[in-house]
Amino acid sequence: MREGSDGPREGPRYATTRFRRSAEAFGMAASPTLLMRVVASAYSVAEKAARIVRNVMATGDLGIVEKSGANDLQTKADRLVQMSICASLARKFPKATIIGEEELPPHDVAEELIEDGHCEEILKKTCPPQYTGIKEEEVMLHVFIFYPHLSILLTDFNFKHNYIFFCFCTGLLDHVTVLIGIAYGGKAIAGVINQPYYNYEAGADAVLGRTIWGVLGIGAFGFELTEVPAGKHIIVTTRSHSSTLVDDCISALNPDSVIRVGGAGNKIIQLIEGKASAYVFASPGCKKWDTCAPEAILHAVGGKITDIHGNSFHYNKEVKHMNSAGVLATLRNYDYYASRIPNTVKQSLVP
Ligand code: AMP
Ligand code: MG
Repeated sequence: MREGSDGPREGPRYATTRFRRSAEAFGMAASPTLLMRVVASAYSVAEKAARIVRNVMATGDLGIVEKSGANDLQTKADRLVQMSICASLARKFPKATIIGEEELPPHDVAEELIEDGHCEEILKKTCPPQYTGIKEEEVMLHVFIFYPHLSILLTDFNFKHNYIFFCFCTGLLDHVTVLIGIAYGGKAIAGVINQPYYNYEAGADAVLGRTIWGVLGIGAFGFELTEVPAGKHIIVTTRSHSSTLVDDCISALNPDSVIRVGGAGNKIIQLIEGKASAYVFASPGCKKWDTCAPEAILHAVGGKITDIHGNSFHYNKEVKHMNSAGVLATLRNYDYYASRIPNTVKQSLVP
């Protein structure tokens, strides 16, 4: 059976559920649902993307082009990774909608960029009953790769060739993240975050990279869920897109400390690994492809992410990409932070 084109999911919703129940009653493994196959494929596709990132960075030739200006750059890795992810997932799930940051001219994608594998462990998990009937055409995938923002330095030709070395020396390599968010019915329900350089400080023999994934109703995996010590208020926020409003909002929350890391995925990782208690970003700038995968993973472990007003994000096809009213996310104690966002900040950010 060719994955993504046929299978028991095509029938009416009740038929799939009934099939699964009777298969389980006879001790047979039910065939994986569409959602679990999408997540299992996204996992392998993200790992392939990480290998592409490491290969491009290792050459030192980042192939940088300016998009709207010197602050808006696109690297060869951005292009190859997005092509790889989108083409690989489109081949398996042709009816799904895929949205990525980069506007790439349509052309054939080299076969070597295609990943057709999947993660067996994910296929073994039971799909939550509310998602067993999802059809391929109902799935939206939000794809993104984040690099540490170094545009000023990148205008220096020599620096371009030392980008990876600079990131290595400054501890920024962990910020590189590949995000694949899966939405259904306008809601982020599953996500994959790959960190291609995770473990890079552990020495030459260390295995580089990790993949974190999660599904609402199943949980999140690939890391150890840890909470910030009780009573500690540590805020994680932008490293490269600060403004007076961003800083005023953080000051009003009177935190014990503030950490600044790049990427929405990396900030959610700080929350679920007990490094920070709230992700606070009182500014437009973050897009749906930044928040979709992190949102699903955070929600899968009982956290909460909204805009600065407390509104949920929506991921349906028609919705604008920009999260205009900022981001507020926590693993625990969401209300503590939400109740302390100043009204002046809220008034400055229109959803
Ligand atoms: P940051 O928190 O600065 O790491 O940003 C998280 C994500 O939102 C990244 O993908 C950024 O590129 C994007 N982003 C946040 N603020 C801005 C902004 N002012 N302009 C463009 N992109 C932004
Ligand atoms: Mg980019």
